Amino acid sequence: MGKLRFDVVQDAFKKKAVKVEMPQARPSDYFGELVFNREKMRRYLDAKTFRELTDCIDNGRPLDRKTADGVAQGMKTWAIEHGVTHISHWFQPLTEGTAEKHDSFLEYGRDGGMIETFDGKSLAQQEPDASSFPNGGIRATFEARGYTAWDPTSPVFIQDDTLCIPSLFISYTGEALDYKTPLKRSLKAVNDAALPICRLFDPSVGKVINFLGWEQEYFLVDEDLFAARPDLMLTGRTLFGHEASKNQQLDDHYFGAIPSRVAAFMRDVEIAGYRLGIPLKTRHNEAAPNQFEMAPIYGEANLANDQNQMIMNVMKNMARKHGFVLLLHEKPFAGINGSGKHNNWSLGTDTGVQLMAPGKDAMGNLQFITFFVNVLAAVQKYNSLLKASIATATNAHRLGANEAPPAIVSAFLGKTMTDVLHKLLELPSDTPIEIAGKTGASLGLVEIPEIFIDNTDRNRTSPFAFTGNRFEFRAVGSSANCAGAVTTLNAAVADQLKLFKSQLDERLAQGAALNVGIMDTLKPIIASILDVICFDGNGYSEEWHREAERRGLDTETSVPEMIAAYLHPDSVAMFARTGIYTAKELEARNEVKWNTYTKKIQIEARVMGRMATNHIIPAAESYQSVLLRNLSLMKDVMPDEFASVGAANLDTVRRISFLTAEIRRQVDAMVEERKKANVIESEYEKARAYHEIAESLVPIRRLVDELEEITDNDAWPLPKYRELLFIN
Ligand code: ADP
Ligand code: MG
Repeated sequence: MGKLRFDVVQDAFKKKAVKVEMPQARPSDYFGELVFNREKMRRYLDAKTFRELTDCIDNGRPLDRKTADGVAQGMKTWAIEHGVTHISHWFQPLTEGTAEKHDSFLEYGRDGGMIETFDGKSLAQQEPDASSFPNGGIRATFEARGYTAWDPTSPVFIQDDTLCIPSLFISYTGEALDYKTPLKRSLKAVNDAALPICRLFDPSVGKVINFLGWEQEYFLVDEDLFAARPDLMLTGRTLFGHEASKNQQLDDHYFGAIPSRVAAFMRDVEIAGYRLGIPLKTRHNEAAPNQFEMAPIYGEANLANDQNQMIMNVMKNMARKHGFVLLLHEKPFAGINGSGKHNNWSLGTDTGVQLMAPGKDAMGNLQFITFFVNVLAAVQKYNSLLKASIATATNAHRLGANEAPPAIVSAFLGKTMTDVLHKLLELPSDTPIEIAGKTGASLGLVEIPEIFIDNTDRNRTSPFAFTGNRFEFRAVGSSANCAGAVTTLNAAVADQLKLFKSQLDERLAQGAALNVGIMDTLKPIIASILDVICFDGNGYSEEWHREAERRGLDTETSVPEMIAAYLHPDSVAMFARTGIYTAKELEARNEVKWNTYTKKIQIEARVMGRMATNHIIPAAESYQSVLLRNLSLMKDVMPDEFASVGAANLDTVRRISFLTAEIRRQVDAMVEERKKANVIESEYEKARAYHEIAESLVPIRRLVDELEEITDNDAWPLPKYRELLFIN
């Protein structure tokens, strides 16, 4: 007999905050101390090696073997000073999270003794036995080896005793098997497409950079309560659980005082993050009880995404140190908010210009409008694809529900930018676009008010919102690798910018002035986006659903169908044009996505069936026996009372009979459906069948939650929502 729920809850409640070892120095002093950054490169590499490595990082020059050896030597010296004994390529396969394969520095020396070695070859490449990573059939089992290749643009870092080398994961025939490779391709595509446009405004621009600022939402649950919930352990979410009497209706959690055990956890994560060079900036309570958020200062997208993956690992481990388990699932609890990961996305130049923010003068503003409008055009054209980029079994719970984001990708511009676009359509194409307040208001100008930059209105129901100097793609799930969404967005934007540039070039060739040529090219695009993708109303409303359908936006809600958008001929052609995915890669990745979807639902369905049979029904039936015994004693001892109130008590007994029988029946039916689905060959068809199974879990849960309401509190075997959500 295990511990009673009551005891587990009491123990969890009594826990105190773990003391955090605060460093003596300021964060700015130890920031990046576990990262082989430029400062370390300068200290640990000779001048020539340093020059060649930075040239490789900044300008993409290839590294020769000798330089790689020199780099490895310097890294090794630095790492050993930090007590490092192992190296590992650190990569992002198509599973959740990251993968590592550790090799020690240890080798036999010439004289037979042991030495530490690390050379350019092991820095540049590793061959993990990768046959069991998802690959969608790209690597046949007989050719099981993919390889990992060092990504010099993301710095090497130390994790415990291991030197981690951020790497790409590629098959022997060159196909991407990970998230990083396509992301890097997409950064190149965006640069290739955006640079020629920027140079029309300033010929000295050398590079266009994609910036990402993620906001990571998460839940913390006490680890003892977690351990008493097989559903949380195996699926990351509660498959059962009646709503607590209080949840988030008082709005008293959002931005509330951070509970002390949680504050200690956050402090520890931040210290670890700073040492890893992650510029964590914001921490706060989120809307739901026991839900929190953490966000860094934005940075270059590839590095920012690596840092998000790193911090997710840090958070997972640190949570345990503080007696919590970290939940990154998008919807761990029904009836309250789920967790997302807003991707704040923008472009900028190496000359320091933010392309998603108003400029300094009329031409700067025109450049901003050019990029702004083309991003929206890309989101409009590929709205199905953007939805596909965030569609997973776990994020599906947010998509359908009445919370951000709805399963329709629209864009919110705010009043200022909507007005600016309307005005641009009305005025002649050579009208200067000014920022009011700087140049003064004069007639015939399109003005962007100066305060606008930090004063954008908010629409929390929009999946893609403009917020003054960036777009926020809010539909990304909390457990996702941001690269999935960012790569797709970059691809769409790059493709649209190319199209725009070719249309513009035609006008310029006919002798149009630059500003007039640009506005004339933009105007039909502006008219179209205002009609279709831009929506400032309530994204959750029924009317919007109907309106979006009328506008031709994708309103599909089934994840397996959403994912299919990647294989639409338009998508395949676009990804080929931009050089981001080949058709073969797209097919393979979709196989992986459907397969992952199927497996996730399959696991949930199994856990649900077993918990219903092994936990729920026995608990309800033993309570039912108590009631029956009581009734029978009542009948013997107090026949009169039994005659008057016994019938009412009998109702509960009958209700339990009905519910347990119905749960058994529905679980059996669900198991039968699974058997049928499991023999389907096609991953797509199988995922579709599992989508139906996912739907059939909903009524089973409802029955169990009703049982929770009527069963003796002491007899209920699982920690309840009020305990999971309010103990911290
Ligand atoms: P909010 O909750 O208002 O969205 P947060 O401070 O939680 O604000 O998160 C905003 C995120 O957006 C931060 O990571 C921030 O660094 C990032 N960000 C700000 N400006 C840009 C930009 N131009 N490009 C990309 N990300 C940005
Ligand atoms: Mg935000």
